[in-house]
Amino acid sequence: MRIYFDNAASTKILNRFREDILKVFDFYANPSSVHAEGKKARYEIEKVREYISSSLNILNSKDLIFTSGATESNNMIIKGVANFYGKGHIITTGIEHPSVLNVCRYLETKGFELTYLKPNEDGIVTSDKVLNAIKDNTILVCVMAVNNETGVKQPIEEIGNILKNKNIHFHSDMVQYLLKEKIDVEKLNLSSFSASFHKFHGPKGLGLAYVKNTSKIEKFMHGGSHEKNKRAGTENLQSIILGGIVYRYMNENLSENIKYMSKISDKFLRGLKEFEGKIRLNNKENRVLNIFNIELIDKDIQYILPILDMNGVSISGGSACQSGSLSPSYVLLEQGLSENQAKGSIRISLSIENTEEEIDIFFEILRKII
Ligand code: PMP
Repeated sequence: MRIYFDNAASTKILNRFREDILKVFDFYANPSSVHAEGKKARYEIEKVREYISSSLNILNSKDLIFTSGATESNNMIIKGVANFYGKGHIITTGIEHPSVLNVCRYLETKGFELTYLKPNEDGIVTSDKVLNAIKDNTILVCVMAVNNETGVKQPIEEIGNILKNKNIHFHSDMVQYLLKEKIDVEKLNLSSFSASFHKFHGPKGLGLAYVKNTSKIEKFMHGGSHEKNKRAGTENLQSIILGGIVYRYMNENLSENIKYMSKISDKFLRGLKEFEGKIRLNNKENRVLNIFNIELIDKDIQYILPILDMNGVSISGGSACQSGSLSPSYVLLEQGLSENQAKGSIRISLSIENTEEEIDIFFEILRKII
């Protein structure tokens, strides 16, 4: 039996969608074609767009476009805003996903001025820090909604309130937030957000980019007039239809899922109590229910992760995009952890597929290792 505790890296497409995967092949025409098959395909895509928009209180569904994933969405939006202005100051945080951080670093080489805000010891970048960093030439603020390594929630509603009358684009990477809690996009005062379907049991290679129609942003992908003329390229039809089915299911069951995740999250926290002095929780405050970042005191994950894997447990030392190297997590270092503490830290990320029994087995294995 394998225990998959790496759901922040990617999730499994639930078994209940196996038949749906076959059904999506009934749709094959180019959604831009004007014949019956094309119109049928277009109808399906627009149905998904409408449903997701209304579930998130996005007033105009045209502001929501499908991409190949959150990496593309982040690139498209951040470079799109930067290219519109041509110069200026960008505020972000030192704990963003590489698909934000490395875009910002690239823009720095092109002459943009960058401020990378540090989180406090709880992993939170406060709205005061953002406010104090604003300059006359600030064009863009990028703050993620939930950190992918610690699960810590950032005060994006407060930041949105600060920025709403300032003519500064506010972008949030919402990859680890979407479908974890109820979201009202209007209330958050965002100019844009990115999301990715493979983080909530949907297909890989499918993402969302929301860009409010009043935003000043240059087109990223040039070509045909697809996706409301915002992202050229024939839509990923089958994935969008499947993604729509998964999204609807996850959204309709959101309250139930939150209840279930609370239950298994509490169980996990109770289990940790036994390890006082041996394990330290790196994300005590203000986190989503599914992500735990823990330090195994005086241990090195370089040795622990393979042992866990051999015992049937799949987890990460940080973000999957970084963990190939097993170097200490930059997110934890930014949060103020020492290199040794970061080297001993692992991320456990649960999903609705995980069970209480799996948590018991995990702790049994951990007991042996520690
Ligand atoms: N942002 C965050 C916070 C993520 O966790 C990820 C996935 N690791 C991404 C962006 C990139 O998403 P995708 O895999 O869809 O490119």
